Amino acid sequence: MASTFSFELIVKPDRCFRLGRIICWRNKERKVMSTPNFLAYTVRGSVPHLTPDNLREIPVEALEIPLENFLDIQPPPSSLYPHGAHKFFNFEDFMLFFDIRDPGEFKKASFNTDKIVSVSTLQGVCKITSDTYVKYINSYNPDAVISLADMTTFEKTPGLKRIKKSVNRTLDWLDYALANIKEGIQVFGAVVGHNNHEERIRSAQETANKNVAGFLLNGHGLGATSRERLDLLKISINNLPNDKPRIAYGFENPVDILRGIFEGIDIFDGSYPSKKTEEGNALIFTLENEEFISDDTEKSLLLYLHDEKYKTDFRPLLSSCKCYACRNHTRAYIHHLLRTREMLATVLLMSHNLYHYTQFFKKIREHIEKNRFITFVDQFCQRYDDTCESKTIYQIQ
Ligand SMILES: [Zn+2]
Repeated sequence: MASTFSFELIVKPDRCFRLGRIICWRNKERKVMSTPNFLAYTVRGSVPHLTPDNLREIPVEALEIPLENFLDIQPPPSSLYPHGAHKFFNFEDFMLFFDIRDPGEFKKASFNTDKIVSVSTLQGVCKITSDTYVKYINSYNPDAVISLADMTTFEKTPGLKRIKKSVNRTLDWLDYALANIKEGIQVFGAVVGHNNHEERIRSAQETANKNVAGFLLNGHGLGATSRERLDLLKISINNLPNDKPRIAYGFENPVDILRGIFEGIDIFDGSYPSKKTEEGNALIFTLENEEFISDDTEKSLLLYLHDEKYKTDFRPLLSSCKCYACRNHTRAYIHHLLRTREMLATVLLMSHNLYHYTQFFKKIREHIEKNRFITFVDQFCQRYDDTCESKTIYQIQ
C-alpha cells in the first residue's frame, strides 16, 4: 500500500510561528511527527552511540539519513536490500527523511555542474547525477526525500549569474525528482538563492508552484551573523505557502532554534545534541518559564563533563530530567567514564542530550498551544544569548 502524507496546522497564531503535525500512513501504520520538531541526526545509518532499542526509549519521531554517508561504494550495498531502509536500519518505528548531504558535517566537496552534484564520502569526493540519486532513493524507499540542490555555500561571493544558475539547476533537479521518485515517497523541494533577494523569492515561488510535500531551507554559509541568516531565510519563508512544512539546516544552538521557529520554521536538523555529546557536554537549559529562577543555575546551556569539578558531583546531569542517564547515574560517574575513555560515557550523554532535545521541542509546542511562546522566547534568549555565538538581543516585533 502506498503511503499517504499530510501536514495539518493545529495552532496558527496571528504570527509566523505555528503548531502542526505531519501524518504519514505507511503499510497501514500511522506515524505522526508533531511540529515544531527536529530530525534526529544519523551517521552512516546509525544515531551515534545508540542502538535502535536505546532510541525507542526516547520520544524521537523522525530521523534523517544523509545519502553521502553511503556513497563510498556505488551502488551502496544497502540500497540493494530488497525491503527498504526502515527495515535495513531497524528504524521501522520512525519517519525517515533522506537527503544527499550531511546537514551536521556540511563539508566542502567540489563544484557541481548541470548534470552532477559533488558530495563528500569516506573515500573522498564523489559525483552523483540526478537520475542516480532518484534510483537510490527509490530503492531505499523512505517516507520523504529532499530534492538535490545546487548549493553555493562554499563560494565566498557568488555573483548573480552563479546564483541564477543555482536556482535554475535546483528547479530542474526538482522537476526530475517529482517525475521519477516513486509513489509513496514525499518530495521536499530545496529553496536556494543565496544572499540575493530576488533570486530567493524566485526560488521559493517557483518551488511552491510545484507538487512538493514541503520545503528545505539551508542556512549553512548564509549571512555573517545568525540574525542576517534568518533575515535571508525569511525572504524565502514569506514566499512559501502556509500549508506545507518547512525544514531548515544550520541552526546551531537553542537560541537560534527559537528564533527560527518564531519566524515560521517547523523542523530542524538534529545535529546539535550529537555535536555536544562528542565534545563531552550535557544539555542543561531550562524548559519552563518558571525554571528561569530554578536551582540548576549555571546560567549555561551546557555542562562540560570533562571538567575536574564534576569528579565528586553526585547529582544527576539535570535534576528535572527523566531520561535513563539522569534516573540512574551521576555527573561524577559520567566524568569518570569520560576520563577513562569508556564508551558508556557517550552512550549516557547521547541518551540524555537527545532526550532533553525532544523535551525542549515538546515544551515549545506546549508554549505555542498555551499562548505563552513569545514570553518563553523572550526570557530564554535574554538568559542564554550571551552563551551563544550570536550576541544580538532578539527584538520581538
Ligand atoms: Zn537526562
